[in-house]
Amino acid sequence: MSLTENILSQLSGDVLGSLRQADRILTSIREGGSAVPIVVTQTQQPLGSVDWDVVICGSTLGILIGCALALKGVRVALIERGTLRGRDQEWNISRKELQVFLELNLLTDAELEQVIATEYNPARVSFLGGAEVWVSDVLNIGVDPVYLLETLKQRFLAVGGKLFEKTPFTQAVVHPDGVIVNNQFKTRLLIDAMGHLSPITQQAREGQKPDALCLVVGTCAQGFPENHTGDLLFSSTPIQNQCQYFWEAFPAKDGRTTYLFTYMDAHPQRLALADLFEDYLRLMSEYQGVELSQLTFKRALFGFFPSYRQPLKTPWSRILPVGDSSGSQSPLSFGGFGAMVRHLQRLTLGIHEALQTDQLSAQAIALLQPYQPSLAVTWLFQKAMSVGVNQKIDPEQINQLLSAVFQQMQQLGKPVLKPFLQDVVQFPALTQTLIKTALTHPALVAKIIPQVGLETLLDWMMHYGNLAIYSILFWLSQILEPWKKNLPISTYYWNRWAEGWKYGSGNDYFDSVGGQNFS
Ligand SMILES: Cc1cc2nc3c(=O)[nH]c(=O)nc-3n(C[C@H](O)[C@H](O)[C@H](O)COP(=O)(O)OP(=O)(O)OC[C@H]3O[C@@H](n4cnc5c(N)ncnc54)[C@H](O)[C@@H]3O)c2cc1C
Repeated sequence: MSLTENILSQLSGDVLGSLRQADRILTSIREGGSAVPIVVTQTQQPLGSVDWDVVICGSTLGILIGCALALKGVRVALIERGTLRGRDQEWNISRKELQVFLELNLLTDAELEQVIATEYNPARVSFLGGAEVWVSDVLNIGVDPVYLLETLKQRFLAVGGKLFEKTPFTQAVVHPDGVIVNNQFKTRLLIDAMGHLSPITQQAREGQKPDALCLVVGTCAQGFPENHTGDLLFSSTPIQNQCQYFWEAFPAKDGRTTYLFTYMDAHPQRLALADLFEDYLRLMSEYQGVELSQLTFKRALFGFFPSYRQPLKTPWSRILPVGDSSGSQSPLSFGGFGAMVRHLQRLTLGIHEALQTDQLSAQAIALLQPYQPSLAVTWLFQKAMSVGVNQKIDPEQINQLLSAVFQQMQQLGKPVLKPFLQDVVQFPALTQTLIKTALTHPALVAKIIPQVGLETLLDWMMHYGNLAIYSILFWLSQILEPWKKNLPISTYYWNRWAEGWKYGSGNDYFDSVGGQNFS
């Protein structure tokens, strides 16, 4: 019996079966060639009247945007194939990012405090053989998904939102004046919040294989030696199985959460989630200084995150992906909840304005999920943290490079280090880090070129250039903002472009930290 079988069989429910099922899906994605679902069709026939402004399919992150829109008086129906319920395991996020729940009146102060299940400090970033970097107030809050989603559900229902559980999305027909979902719900706009396996996303991507995958496995368990600190990014091993493994660890409300994750391409020969789970359990004792037999496992978690170089462009009017289905979270982190929260204000105001001004064409809707150079540049980092399936590189190379980069970032201070750890890349911070690392570790930096390849590097340089351009455009947009009504473009388009430049240059970070206070 493997370690994985032994531990997972102790948990309630068929966890082992779910792990195997996730691996089957992963295999089919890696092998490609599966039939692409055709769930969206178009017709030129007008729909006539509609019953809803917005139908949201998928309720995990869908309830966040659904509740925010319903509070603005939008007629929202939320359809969910199962039931609306948050997972038992906390989502990690930073405290200041949660302010948006108050700003949008989604939660009261008291509810927000209740949502916060855990809070710890500080957290460590360290790579095998390198120095430790400690940070405070980054991803140090554990949000209770069950309480959050239940509270939002009650608010949503109280302001007139309608929830349809046990109602799987099956099909949508896009008319010039609306969309009919499941031959039943007539709406002006369909929001796809069905996660990264959404059939709508699959159809829009036309069966395209992901450019990269992040695999993550972990547990929440009791019995660890007392430890009130966390790990944001930690490695205890050199490259093995053509993978660099990274750990994350957080104090949780009923134990300690530990995750092992790794980046890779979508080659069919890559390791399975079950293999990663076995390595996670094998390496855990040394990492946390505890024997597995001393631990009481509360639950296991695992998943994989496909990522694509090109942001998703849906070809249809009146359909907008949000959450994991949009692929708009960082390819470095699997913080899809955090990404949704960061964009919640922008999405709520943008969707509301699109509905008010009837800007629901494919072109207008695409601006709500804009290209962000601040995300696109992180592709290189992901690539530099992974190894090709047949590539031979020094097993210590990734650890050495990351140690060097984080030490330089630490020396540059919190304004450089903290946004990066919260998935926000800004041109000045990135440029300073690159120059400082290249000057102090030229040999290490030179090794990246053969590791990631010239094509990736050239592609990255384009996004890096765009990051500079977006920073300038953001600055210009602030100067032009008072005159936007006189500009020869519609306010809807101006607002979306201005937001695109702001988020695409990482300048939204200053909203969430309240000016430039990096305390
Ligand atoms: C191990 C692990 C740890 C994580 N930790 C963090 C963290 O600490 N912080 C963080 O920010 N993020 C974290 N994430 C990521 C986060 O959980 C996801 O980004 C988030 O759940 C995405 O939500 P979603 O609603 O977009 O998609 P999903 O979570 O996939 O939810 C999709 C919803 O759509 C429903 N649905 C699917 N198909 C249909 C259909 N046909 N009809 C109707 N409904 C449908 C599903 O039932 C589900 O309710 C973690 C993920 C994993 C796997």
